[in-house]
Amino acid sequence: MIIGGGFAGVWSAAGAALARGERNLRITLIAPNEHLVLRPRLYEPEPDLAKVELERICGPIGVEHLRASVSTIDTARCVVVADEREIGYDRLVLAAGSRLVTPQGLPGAERLFDIDTLGGALRLTEHLRGRKNCSVVVVGAGFVGLEAATALAGRGQVVLVDRSEVIGAPLGPGPREQIESALEMLGIERRLGTTVTAVGDGCAVLSDASRLEADAVVWSAGMRASKLTRQISSRLDPLGRVPVDRWLRAVPPGVFVAGDTAAAPFDAEHTVMQACQHATPLGKVAGYNAVADLLGLPLRDFTPGPYVTCLDLGGAGGVFTRGWDRRVMASGADGAAIKKRINQAIHPPVDDARAILAAADRVRIELPFFPLTEDTAIPAT
Ligand SMILES: Cc1cc2nc3c(=O)[nH]c(=O)nc-3n(C[C@H](O)[C@H](O)[C@H](O)COP(=O)(O)OP(=O)(O)OC[C@H]3O[C@@H](n4cnc5c(N)ncnc54)[C@H](O)[C@@H]3O)c2cc1C
Repeated sequence: MIIGGGFAGVWSAAGAALARGERNLRITLIAPNEHLVLRPRLYEPEPDLAKVELERICGPIGVEHLRASVSTIDTARCVVVADEREIGYDRLVLAAGSRLVTPQGLPGAERLFDIDTLGGALRLTEHLRGRKNCSVVVVGAGFVGLEAATALAGRGQVVLVDRSEVIGAPLGPGPREQIESALEMLGIERRLGTTVTAVGDGCAVLSDASRLEADAVVWSAGMRASKLTRQISSRLDPLGRVPVDRWLRAVPPGVFVAGDTAAAPFDAEHTVMQACQHATPLGKVAGYNAVADLLGLPLRDFTPGPYVTCLDLGGAGGVFTRGWDRRVMASGADGAAIKKRINQAIHPPVDDARAILAAADRVRIELPFFPLTEDTAIPAT
């Protein structure tokens, strides 16, 4: 049984189907959504295109999709409760993902927009549709906030607000120069060392008491793993993720964890990122191992490929980095071209069992468009 229909859940299903082969074993994916949402593309002008019908992936590989939401996981009894129905499992993969943390108690919080979910991105698109020269305040200058701000820059005046004194703090200093010059080029105003303390009708109030005109305030600060993780472990990491071993097993017997809910070791110094780049191989290994464990087959190690980052910077192109110090390998138009190819590459194969299962068998990321092969050593940082 797999909980979640995001990248990790879908690839767990494919990994499980790969390990199952011709054997008679039921694989069920439980998720309320009808589509896999390609969250990394939700900053695009037409977010409704960033989705893939789950049935086109699950159907061909013989995985049942149960449209429901899980409220309880009882690892002692090996049952979950989905839409008030109790269902037993032999092996479980938790892949319920993450959500944006919205501020508690912020006056006017109900007026905030986000691009965290398909519904959120569509709401923002609709809200701004047809408006000329709109003013937008984006809160959070990390991965998501930078893509949101630079994508919206063509629409009018964008102000980027962050508590940190530097732009792109979570990305470190590696790509900062490229990001700064992109923001400069796009005319995006930066208000650093501040945050939004209230959202009014058509305005945002900042912690330095200044007031900004805002047709929309887009919140993009902070992600946290699904609360279901609390039912698996009492030792969650600061992102709310379950610690797992290199086979992606959690402590309760028969439970594997993948994607944004898993604090899996990447190397001696790092755990994986809450990123599709890691959710995909985590899913492939967790699903495979859940079935292999049940059938008494050897488990697969989680051996992720080199860590890379690619940011879309709208009209200023993109920036592509590699390594945990995020050394810039390409920027401007070259960076944008790589991002475009990544956004195509994350689209899973559909309607074709052989192609889906073959992809499930390839765990390390492939970057055919960049000279970074599996053998390319990334110097330790
Ligand atoms: C705007 C944006 C840009 C991003 N850009 C990048 C990028 O450039 N590169 C990158 O690598 N990553 C990027 N990410 C992060 C990436 O999208 C996530 O890391 C990835 O989606 C995680 O996949 P997941 O399957 O673990 O979780 P999710 O995508 O969160 O999917 C979780 C699934 O679980 C289901 N679920 C949740 N709760 C329950 C429940 N109780 N019962 C049943 N099902 C449940 C959900 O409906 C969903 O189907 C971006 C994210 C956003 C929002």
